[in-house]
Amino acid sequence: MNTHNVLDSIGNTPLLPLRRMIEPGMAQVLMKMEAWNPSGSLKDRVVKYIVEEAEAAGTLKPHHVIIDASSGNTGIALGMVASLKGYRSQIFMPVTKSIERRKIMRVWGTELVLTSGEDQNSHIWAAEELAKDTEHYFYLNQNGNAGNVMSHYWGTGQEIVEETSGRIDSFVAGAGTGGTLMGVARYFRNHDVKARVVGIQPATPISRIEGLLHFDGHFQPKIWDESFLDDFVKVTDDVALDTARRLAREEGLFCGPSTGGIVAVALDEARRLGSGKTVVAIACDRGERYLSTPLVPEG
Ligand code: PMP
Repeated sequence: MNTHNVLDSIGNTPLLPLRRMIEPGMAQVLMKMEAWNPSGSLKDRVVKYIVEEAEAAGTLKPHHVIIDASSGNTGIALGMVASLKGYRSQIFMPVTKSIERRKIMRVWGTELVLTSGEDQNSHIWAAEELAKDTEHYFYLNQNGNAGNVMSHYWGTGQEIVEETSGRIDSFVAGAGTGGTLMGVARYFRNHDVKARVVGIQPATPISRIEGLLHFDGHFQPKIWDESFLDDFVKVTDDVALDTARRLAREEGLFCGPSTGGIVAVALDEARRLGSGKTVVAIACDRGERYLSTPLVPEG
């Protein structure tokens, strides 16, 4: 009997080189295609890792409702994992995030609670309040659970090092919870990979770059450790959206705004480092989840 299921197709994503966006004299830029995970984002690895770790430890019980705060991608990944495994799930998300996110979560059967758009962390405070009821709820806690970092350490980080034989000069990713950056940077550090680690964040607290946190001192994820970063670059909405559109038109890769911001910074890195060097950048999620937003031109 074939027992292969959707969870087995999480991870081992391809590493694709940019072609037309690279000019002579620039380093190569390799895109780690996390958008091609089955639910469409880098969060599939995180949810699978944390849920299965908790199942093995006995802290997640069959009657638990799995809850978390999410800007959308973790909620969508949780909907997929929970439906396959037979758990109920509930997600807190700010009202400002794209309508597609809400609809996809509804398809999975996830219960969605919308929180204020004025405070970029309103969904986190709401989830933490409910998480106190440990009898009925299992709190995934992507902002505080070390499993988030470890899923990228043993997944994204290890795969990138194996696929490039460790020959990486710069790594660029977005900072939401910091799971991707911390996990990959730790893997590099423990395996003697000397690449620069570059994080990106939105230039403003309220931003069109969904999924990333503007670090303004009000909230810092528990798993965050800035000492792993060599550079932390602020990106404007315009640059992120323009670059995401270019990525579709010039490279055939339709991804979301955070990927646009990451590629803009990865191209700067590639220009500075010059030919013969390698930059790895994360393609975080699929563009289709932003069809109703300014990413897609009207008309
Ligand atoms: N891009 C998008 C679209 C995201 O949803 C997230 C996660 N919120 C990130 C980037 C950043 O990932 P991480 O949480 O690992 O920092």
